[in-house]
Amino acid sequence: GRLPGWDRVEELVQEAHARHRDRAEGAVADYIPVLAEADPRLFGVVVAETSGDLHAAGDADAAFTIQSISKAFVYALVCEAYGHEVVRDRVGVNNTGLPFNSVIAVELNDGHPMNPMVNAGAIATTALLPGGTPDEQWAHLAAGLARFAGRTLEVDPVVYESEAATNQRNRAIARLLESYGRIDADPLEVVDVYTRQCAIRVTARDLAVMGATLADGGVHPVTGERVVSAQVCRDTLAVLAATGMYERSGEWLFEIGVPAKSGVSGGIVAIAPGKGAIGTFSPPIDPAGNSVRGRLATAHLSRTLGLNVFASA
Ligand code: GLU
Repeated sequence: GRLPGWDRVEELVQEAHARHRDRAEGAVADYIPVLAEADPRLFGVVVAETSGDLHAAGDADAAFTIQSISKAFVYALVCEAYGHEVVRDRVGVNNTGLPFNSVIAVELNDGHPMNPMVNAGAIATTALLPGGTPDEQWAHLAAGLARFAGRTLEVDPVVYESEAATNQRNRAIARLLESYGRIDADPLEVVDVYTRQCAIRVTARDLAVMGATLADGGVHPVTGERVVSAQVCRDTLAVLAATGMYERSGEWLFEIGVPAKSGVSGGIVAIAPGKGAIGTFSPPIDPAGNSVRGRLATAHLSRTLGLNVFASA
């Protein structure tokens, strides 16, 4: 099926926002000190269609750091550069069933990072970015994410500094991967690029547009630019379905049925292949790291717009 007409999608986006605006469950992440200062009332819901049509409700243009949602797009860029087999073998595609920053997951799997949506796999993925130096790798990453968004994206220096000062665990994970021979680059330099990628500032509108590019076989629905191949979109969405929503990825797929990625600052992007994407932002998250209002709004839209990828009609 296709999406309903413009007026109906618009109405449903406003409804998804209005229905869940007053939900108060969840707590703002505070393990990165400055994230604790986020305004818990902010709530934005955006649908970007592959046609380029946009629908926005609430705080669609409030800026926040992308955090783990960057993992999806950096993974796509690395898939584009190295292809299906290399990335599958080096980074993996299976869920760990453990928290995103688990050290035990690495230990249990002979140092294999397991998948690109947990920190170990994301660090291993960032290490693979094309470029001879961390600066060149960063330039590749920043240019790639800008093409997904259709605009230049800035790093939030305060969030970057705050995380860089408190990311001992990620540095430990990178050293652990190094000890197993799983990353070739300097581990601390890789973590620095990773920390910077997490601090890229986006809005719910950006997330929707970036997701719609993955829904559109890699072609940006507004700029018309090809960002990645259709094969890379399939690979990325398969990985998101299996691993994108932390330890609740199975539950998410069962209830909502759309590949998605969330981040601890409260963003979620959910992608309906061929149709479009939903970008949401609301800082209070559940214990796994998924935005509470974002999940509710996405569930509402998946149901009413008929986005569940497992539904036959
Ligand atoms: N920068 C965060 C970290 O590595 C990302 C966490 C997340 O959004 O899952 O801890």
